[in-house]
Amino acid sequence: MNEILEMTINEMADASFDCSCGQHHTLGIKYMSIGKGTLPTIVDIAAPFKDKPVFMISDNHTFEAAGERTLKILEDNGFDVKSYSFQTGDGILIPDEKALGRLFMELDPGVGLIVSVGSGTLNDLAKYMSARTGIPYIIVCTAPSMDGYAADGAPMIKAGRKISFIATLPYAIVGDTDIMKEAPMHLIHAGFGDVLGKMTALADWYLAKEIAGDYCCETCVTLVQRALQKVVDNAAGLAKRDENAILYLIEALTLTGVAMGLIGISRPASGAEHMLSHYWEMDFIARGKFPELHGIKVGIATPIIAEMFELMRDDVPDCALELAPTREEVEELLRTAGAPVLPTEIGIERDLFYNSIIEGYTVRNRYSILQTAVDKGRIVECAKIITDRIYGAE
Ligand SMILES: [Zn+2]
Ligand SMILES: [Zn+2]
Repeated sequence: MNEILEMTINEMADASFDCSCGQHHTLGIKYMSIGKGTLPTIVDIAAPFKDKPVFMISDNHTFEAAGERTLKILEDNGFDVKSYSFQTGDGILIPDEKALGRLFMELDPGVGLIVSVGSGTLNDLAKYMSARTGIPYIIVCTAPSMDGYAADGAPMIKAGRKISFIATLPYAIVGDTDIMKEAPMHLIHAGFGDVLGKMTALADWYLAKEIAGDYCCETCVTLVQRALQKVVDNAAGLAKRDENAILYLIEALTLTGVAMGLIGISRPASGAEHMLSHYWEMDFIARGKFPELHGIKVGIATPIIAEMFELMRDDVPDCALELAPTREEVEELLRTAGAPVLPTEIGIERDLFYNSIIEGYTVRNRYSILQTAVDKGRIVECAKIITDRIYGAE
């Protein structure tokens, strides 16, 4: 029963089982190769596609981090590879019409496999291309920065607005910790923030189960919780790029994706902390400002939502309260890893912050602690308390 709980992360690829939640779960990812020195395993993983050209995509940062080596390994083993690398200088690649259009212009007829070397944006671009062309893709992860490696949604910027497209899962994930531990620290902090967000996301899931009668899969909760705990226990190692701390981080990020993939909803990964993050992001995009990395915002939003659970304690069922972390606990973890803690550290101003608490529940139609506060007529009170604590009383 639920044998997936006995498996290592790499064994979970292609899983298919009857779950105690009553559903049959399957994971449409063929291979996961996560661990130390796993990059060369791409040769065997990609072998079924060897008779057709391979299209490898990267940017100048990720080409240097892992693209050059990936290209050499594939070519040395007889693959016909066309490599396209975005030249963004010190800038950041944006997943918009321009980037996507360029990739489609570089895509030759007859390509049998896309290999994307990168993290957030390059993964999303490859995922979108793969979904539209039917060509499978392998992601070679360069940073443990977000949980989208094993997820099928591709957030893109269309006409200046962020839209999450349903795309496809990768054929394989190659996550070599020798590569990922060298990632820029800001990206590691982002991944850590996205993982900490699962603490409140799971509490929200239990809340929604108890109050709104939402479906909940205990197997997925356990999977995410166990991976999360390993990351929390090793938080101090991240600042030192400790091998195990990085491995646990990429495992937790991938496992969250696996949990989402198994049940086809993002509940295990995303609760009210993601609503705040999206609310801030939309405001930044609308003003033409760089919205900060996803996980950095989620990390900052997590203690805020933990505080919401504390303030709403009397209206929250015990099982959700038990799962919810305390604000101090999350802030301490962020500090331990050296990540940003307060919204003021990333340029979120008082009004935007206050409004995000009041209106955050409108970001998506999903029951969360913000909805509880709205329904109980206490959202304004909570927003005032938290805003005054962070920005000072007016
Ligand atoms: Zn996230
Ligand atoms: Zn289940």
